[in-house]
Amino acid sequence: MTSNLNKEDILHILNATDSEIIEYMAETVKYRENNLITYSKNIFIPLTEICRNDCGYCNFKKNPDDPEAIILKRKEEVLADLKEAEGYGCKEALFTFGEDADEEEIVQLKLAEYGYEKMIDYVVDICQMTLDETTLIPHTNGGNYSYDDLKRLKEVNASMGLMLENSSNRLMELPAHNKSPGKNPELRLETIRNAGKLKIPYTTGILIGIGETKEEIAESLLAIKELSDEYGHIQEVIIQNFTPIPGIEMESWPEPSFLDMIRTVIAGTLLFADSDVSIQVPPNLNNDTAQIFLLCGADDWGGVSPVSPDYVNITSPWPGIDELQKLTEDAGFELTERLCVYEKYINSEWLNDTLLTSISEHQ
Ligand code: SF4
Repeated sequence: MTSNLNKEDILHILNATDSEIIEYMAETVKYRENNLITYSKNIFIPLTEICRNDCGYCNFKKNPDDPEAIILKRKEEVLADLKEAEGYGCKEALFTFGEDADEEEIVQLKLAEYGYEKMIDYVVDICQMTLDETTLIPHTNGGNYSYDDLKRLKEVNASMGLMLENSSNRLMELPAHNKSPGKNPELRLETIRNAGKLKIPYTTGILIGIGETKEEIAESLLAIKELSDEYGHIQEVIIQNFTPIPGIEMESWPEPSFLDMIRTVIAGTLLFADSDVSIQVPPNLNNDTAQIFLLCGADDWGGVSPVSPDYVNITSPWPGIDELQKLTEDAGFELTERLCVYEKYINSEWLNDTLLTSISEHQ
């Protein structure tokens, strides 16, 4: 099989059974260029837990009237977190937070108190502070952005991210996304496209097990591939599994099967085999099974933090880096640290001088 898969080929992989699965796993090995498995040592900073969406699987968003909610972190708090992360040798400042939080009055009031008008002004300033006052490199993942906002964020982020999750409009009718206007796939594909036009190194991915069909998984992977081929900005594709957690709206929703994860990782690997795009599987969502995905072509564990929890999956702690190394080596691979931005983008075609200088301190 070549790496130029069409929808039918992908569906064949997603429906594979028995020894076919083993054969496909062996196929992925042919495309491996080395035995390195990467991760990025980061700190995860949730600037706000307020979000305009309400996804059925969300365990991150908090209501504005929740006394525990992070409405908007103070700059000084963020700087203290970043300084602590520096002490742990972290290189990536991952700013992940709810989308369009400034639609809520309580966030507007905080922004005004801190001297900002819009969330985007605050985020740009936080990223600038990170570059000015720390050695960490910003990577922002804050939902959909307009072309103009992305243009501003590009100047202060080495890379950015937004999960496509799924390209099907049908999911907007299901519990996963029926209260989440920001999960409209057209909007998300437009954000990812604009990032490509602006030459922003970009991370995206799909979320499986939220009510999609296999056809829709195939179409989602192909939609990402199309943008990747057009703009060359997709550095990694995350294959993430839905994990039910008590208390979320979809707590009784069935998890995707282990084999479905295997099939989807294989499909992603073979689809992107000609593109120098990494396939990432979050190790904390696959505690006992993570190693097998390395045998299906996954070559990246994503961000792993020695200092902060995975706020989006708060019940799934990251493995320690020692543990990650052990399980990677046990599977026959070598664990190696990467930056949030992949090597091939570290040049003036993609990044400005300030970012290149900041990155050079880590090389
Ligand atoms: S999953 Fe993300 S977009 Fe959806 S409600 Fe939670 S924070 Fe918002």
